[in-house]
Amino acid sequence: MENNNKFVIDSEIKTIFRTDDIAQDIYQLITELYPICRSITGNGFRETLKIIQQYIPLCVYEVPTGTEVFDWRVPKEWNIKDAYIKNSQGQKIVDFANSNLHLVNYSLPIHKKVSLTELKAHLFTLPEYPDLIPYHTSYYKETWGFCLSHNQYLELNDQEYEVYIDSTLESGHLSYGEYYIPGKTTDEVLISCHACHPSLCNDNLSGIAIATFIAKYLSQTTPKYSYRFLWIPGTIGSITWLALNEAKVNNIKHGLVLTCLGDSGNFTYKKSRRGDTEIDKVAAYVLRNSKQDYKIIDFFPYGYDERQYCSPGFNLAVGCLMRSPHGSFPEYHTSADDLNFVQPQYLAESFFQCRSILEILNNNHIYYNQNPKCEPQLGRRGLYQQDSRLNQMATLWVLNLSDGQHTLLDIAERSGMSFDVIKYAADRLLAHELLISKNN
Ligand code: ZN
Repeated sequence: MENNNKFVIDSEIKTIFRTDDIAQDIYQLITELYPICRSITGNGFRETLKIIQQYIPLCVYEVPTGTEVFDWRVPKEWNIKDAYIKNSQGQKIVDFANSNLHLVNYSLPIHKKVSLTELKAHLFTLPEYPDLIPYHTSYYKETWGFCLSHNQYLELNDQEYEVYIDSTLESGHLSYGEYYIPGKTTDEVLISCHACHPSLCNDNLSGIAIATFIAKYLSQTTPKYSYRFLWIPGTIGSITWLALNEAKVNNIKHGLVLTCLGDSGNFTYKKSRRGDTEIDKVAAYVLRNSKQDYKIIDFFPYGYDERQYCSPGFNLAVGCLMRSPHGSFPEYHTSADDLNFVQPQYLAESFFQCRSILEILNNNHIYYNQNPKCEPQLGRRGLYQQDSRLNQMATLWVLNLSDGQHTLLDIAERSGMSFDVIKYAADRLLAHELLISKNN
């Protein structure tokens, strides 16, 4: 039988996860992670996982450089201590210590004097946003470079510059974090976020922090599904995880990639490649009922790690929950994606939206009516106008559509009633043994 105490457990947890507290807690974690220079490998990524471990006991995995993962190899590990450009007077004009975005992520070590012409071949700016520092990476092409505002770039003159990058690019490991919450079944929900960006808040500290607090929340429940959380470097991390854990992939029944969840934009849900899976339906239902504008977009093979989870060899039911999608806001991948761009109230809203999706998914049962030949007599069971919370039409809809073919969400959609009202009616009918779960 299903857990009839679910509402009690939920209401207890809701008092622990109050909106103001969760807003501040998520924002606080982002503030703590913000200064760290992360990359797809290296100590910044490890330090990030160590901080998340103060919230949840995730496991850290280390995969050696050179490990074959499908068509890829785990790259060399990159670490960075310091970097700057000095002018001919010895003044630091670009300094990694001021912003880790100043350095092209994965830059090779270098220390030499260069002409303005040579320097310019290694500089990146954003002419359309001349005050902002862009974010650049060069993971798979060994080079070096700096990023700076276009205004500063225009001030450079013809003199000799000293460039210094104290980095290492050597055999080492790719690190990732994994946290598994066992549920009542081995069927899994995958929650994945990339955790490889340096000081950038919306993309991607918002996803890292919300995944952490969703994990903390779920660890205090006894969910139907098991949950697997991944904090991985983008692209190579999901490829690595899928390659090394192929035997576990069949357990993944639903999944969400979390990213860009702290800005003021409306919610966007990107459907799984299959497009009509249960997570797609649940996410659409939650956004439709959020009383805010939202967008549902079809799958396309670009974006975040859903690209790998939804590659044809896996084709998992994994969608992506965002507010403003990547590339759609001018702050994206620039120094303006900072601690002001993400705000506690938007982070909290995203946390609750994500939690609603997971709760409905978790409670989206399919039942059989145990008295399918005509309606059962509800009055003698105290189910007819004796319970003010119990909606009579909801009771009739649940009884009628519990034929082993319809989920509670299907019933909510078809009846036009809210999932909570339908769920409560189902719980009452279940308690009176008028329903039996399809999976029991
Ligand atoms: Zn990004």
